Amino acid sequence: MTQAIVIGAGAAGLRAAVALRKAGRQVLVLEARDRIGGRVYSVEDRELGATLEMGAEFVHGDLGELKKSRLRLEEMDGRHLSIVDGTLRDVTKDLRGVLSQLAKATGAGTAQSWLSRSDLPPLGRELARYYIEGFYAAPAAFVGVSDIANDQGMRTRRVLGGYDHALRPLADSLREDSALRLGTVVTEVMWRRGHVVVKARTRTGRDLAPFQAEKLIVTLPVGVLLARPGQDGAVRFDPPLKRKREALGWLRMGGVVKAVLRFREPVWAAKPVRKADFVHAPGAAFPTWWRTGSPDTPLVTGWAGGPAASKLGKSDPLPAALSSLARVLGRSASDLEGLLESANIVDWAQDPYSRGAYVYHLAEAPASTTADLAAPEEDTLYFAGEATSLTERSGTVDGAMESGLRAAKEALAKR
Ligand SMILES: Cc1cc2nc3c(=O)[nH]c(=O)nc-3n(C[C@H](O)[C@H](O)[C@H](O)COP(=O)(O)OP(=O)(O)OC[C@H]3O[C@@H](n4cnc5c(N)ncnc54)[C@H](O)[C@@H]3O)c2cc1C
Repeated sequence: MTQAIVIGAGAAGLRAAVALRKAGRQVLVLEARDRIGGRVYSVEDRELGATLEMGAEFVHGDLGELKKSRLRLEEMDGRHLSIVDGTLRDVTKDLRGVLSQLAKATGAGTAQSWLSRSDLPPLGRELARYYIEGFYAAPAAFVGVSDIANDQGMRTRRVLGGYDHALRPLADSLREDSALRLGTVVTEVMWRRGHVVVKARTRTGRDLAPFQAEKLIVTLPVGVLLARPGQDGAVRFDPPLKRKREALGWLRMGGVVKAVLRFREPVWAAKPVRKADFVHAPGAAFPTWWRTGSPDTPLVTGWAGGPAASKLGKSDPLPAALSSLARVLGRSASDLEGLLESANIVDWAQDPYSRGAYVYHLAEAPASTTADLAAPEEDTLYFAGEATSLTERSGTVDGAMESGLRAAKEALAKR
């Protein structure tokens, strides 16, 4: 019998599995998708010889667990422009002011209630709401103040050449002894102290012979843990996880639709956006845009997070992306459409194996919610994944990796 099974080959699952294997444990990772990485999703644009990030793209603040990954990074803390009263304005300083207020955000209630009692000027307040809803992918009317207290400042570094470089060496070391199994969708976990039976099916729906282990590390995203029985990706636990159900009641996954567009010419090269790293169009269908490479690269990335993602619904996001970019660049949408060569767009809320981009806490969530979600069950089930970060790094790759390491240590501490 395998000593430990890990569900999920994202940042948390791979980190946990490698730690267990290094400690001499026999481990098997079961992953639903046909690739590793989960919400780290780097794809190649073969025409341009560029790597596109359809999921995680930046390092926010410190590297944390990514320190050992030797990622190539590019500073993106340059200028921010935003459409204010119909014209593009440099809002870098205003945004810095907003972030320093957010760093000090305290108290109970929703982000919206914090905004209405903050002493930010009107533009600052508008930017703050826009930032909260876009960056945290969470409606200001629901998300709790503690989730928006950001002390990482403006430092943003873009990962070059593929965020998946942080994870590939981990996956490769597991492949060496067949400890990684892709295309394996877990459907059910039957467990008692010291023994776990995991049922899974192939991607075409055929049931596999059950897998058995002494311990299980669960790295399923909150969206998947919240999925209804029978939905693709949903996992049934027998006996059910009562404490987790209570914690999950306070958690939601924010939606993000991310669009990477390639044009026949570098549309970011013209003034005034040329000197900006990010351009914002609050209220547009895709309100946030950034350069994807130097301004002379014909790639741009658009982001619709939180309420903006929900508003897109199931409609075709491409026309909405083009008209939003047209506003940002001061060009016509049909002009851009004529220049468009390719569009990679991922709606993370529609992806059955994540069901959202990252977690947020509802206001009034008990302070113990994250710890309850992360807590082991009967020295047999262990929980990792960005939403279980006990160091307030939820929603990040390094936070997910750190949680994987923490869960592996918990499992190793108990025989
Ligand atoms: C659009 C977007 C942008 C982001 N930007 C950044 C950023 O710039 N910087 C940053 O640090 N973070 C960013 N993040 C967050 C970061 O990607 C995540 O916090 C992190 O990758 C989560 O890792 P994880 O291991 O917890 O979960 P995941 O990566 O989701 O891994 C869970 C794994 O479980 C698998 N799985 C699900 N259901 C089943 C099942 N039934 N059976 C078997 N396997 C299953 C999934 O396929 C997945 O591989 C972003 C996320 C998104 C979506």
